[in-house]
Amino acid sequence: MSNRRTFLQMLSSLPILNGLVGSVQAAPAKRDLLKELGVRPIINGAGVYTMMTGSLMNPESVRAIEAMSHHFVRLDELHDAVGRRIAKLLGCEAAMVPSGAAAGLTLATAACMTGTNAEFILRLPDTTGMKNEVIIQKSHRFPYDHSVRNCGVRLIEVTSAVELERAITPRTAMLLFLNKSEPLGQIKAAEFIQLGKKHAIPTLNDAAADVPPVENLFKYIKMGFDLVVFSGGKGLLGPQSAGLLLGRKDLIQAARLNTVPNSDSLGRGLKVNKEEIVAMWMALEHYLKRDHKKDWRDWEERVRVISSGLASARGVSTERFVPEIANQVPHLRIRWDPSVVKISHAEAMRQLREGEPSIEPVPASYVKDTLEFATWTFQPGEAEAVTRRLREIMKA
Ligand SMILES: *Cc1c(COP(=O)(O)O)cnc(C)c1O
Repeated sequence: MSNRRTFLQMLSSLPILNGLVGSVQAAPAKRDLLKELGVRPIINGAGVYTMMTGSLMNPESVRAIEAMSHHFVRLDELHDAVGRRIAKLLGCEAAMVPSGAAAGLTLATAACMTGTNAEFILRLPDTTGMKNEVIIQKSHRFPYDHSVRNCGVRLIEVTSAVELERAITPRTAMLLFLNKSEPLGQIKAAEFIQLGKKHAIPTLNDAAADVPPVENLFKYIKMGFDLVVFSGGKGLLGPQSAGLLLGRKDLIQAARLNTVPNSDSLGRGLKVNKEEIVAMWMALEHYLKRDHKKDWRDWEERVRVISSGLASARGVSTERFVPEIANQVPHLRIRWDPSVVKISHAEAMRQLREGEPSIEPVPASYVKDTLEFATWTFQPGEAEAVTRRLREIMKA
């Protein structure tokens, strides 16, 4: 075995022979796995949605996954080392890689409840003896707050700073903020943080989908949130089942104790493999040095391709827009005059999905009576393909 390996190593170190070997051995036919499965790939014009498998991983993360798959390591040691690198890159006290932003919410909450108390960690989700209330602004309630409630806490809804202070009791474990809902709530981020500090209660900001802009990776920790979560598989172009939990050292340590390798913990199911832990770190490095201006130009160009391609379609109008917060990238909205283009919104969606290629616009649950496209998840040539399909559908 080792002789064989040495022989092969020797062969591959000789460029000429290496070429010869390559030409003699026919490369194994590349399998088309999606075809075998009967699963059609889609053109993702929706954005970084989990139901559409998030984003496409950057090449450095893919290489890291392959490289890490050859080694055993001590999981805690790896977590420590990657956490330190991430914290250094982002200028925060501590960091860890949870299995996504939702997992980060769960572990952050558990951390605020248990601290490093071993008995409490064993006891969860039974919250006896622990702080078990989380305060949130009513307008900040969101589907992912289930990941906080997983820890057995009760969410206490408030609408103003006065109400928030009145709601604080010895049972208050944490104050929860949904970054993208800042415009909807009376209490803005800065005041929310102040209230947390005044009462010595940790604040958690869920900014899962709020990169780009890249500055947001630093902003919320700098503002003073004790904990911040980001999704790894959205704008960061990292692994889908990974994310970033950033913040205070004591709380990150407590979060770590509530998951693997601690088998008797609430977060045992929120495992991240070694490949993805390292790939998340690589994604962050990759993202920080990406040419964000070029990315933006590419996204704008794709918006332009579709809107100019539809300019001559009768009864159809287009509008470029950028959401104020979360998925803060160029989008295109398409409207049509139903007396000229006789197709319903649902039928247009159906034809985009079922046609060739299969195309997903922003989901109908987010948009009514128009079609919307995010262009940052398009691959080269896809804006042109989408334009072609839209013209066919709008003309028919
Ligand atoms: C996407 C999202 C999450 C979940 O992120 P994952 O990395 O998929 O776990 C949590 N919170 C918000 C606001 C999100 O947009």
